[in-house]
Amino acid sequence: MNDDLRELYQEVILDHNKRPLNYGPLPDSNHDANGRNPLCGDHITLHVRVEDGRIADVSFEGEGCAISRASASMMTEAVKGRTVSEADTIFQQFHDLVTGTRELTAEELDGMGKLAVFAGVHDYPARVKCASLAWHTLNAAIAGSDQPVTTE
Ligand code: ZN
Repeated sequence: MNDDLRELYQEVILDHNKRPLNYGPLPDSNHDANGRNPLCGDHITLHVRVEDGRIADVSFEGEGCAISRASASMMTEAVKGRTVSEADTIFQQFHDLVTGTRELTAEELDGMGKLAVFAGVHDYPARVKCASLAWHTLNAAIAGSDQPVTTE
């Protein structure tokens, strides 16, 4: 990773950790799930309101490291207003990006906006689970799973 991207990565993570978006309860949610990452101690509760196959609103609560909180904050921002299937596509791309499973096309990276800085997680393999916790929890919430999600 070049120095510019590394700097942007740190800046974005710190900023979202300090001032997370969509943080707090969501009284009219209709899909909720809990997720935890025992390796780091992150835990998150996700609230989603799905209307006509679209994520009308989403929020999160929980405690964790800066990366898990920043990722949850940015995830909620990225999927709000999207259809469930669009959110799933973003999740797949995000997953490929942080795990390095597949090189994303320039167009895909463009479409991800600031989420693309999470490519920085590559440099810290233990952090991949912190970065993907919120996304796995979103999947579980939408699937209606009652089982808490764990990254283990
Ligand atoms: Zn963490």
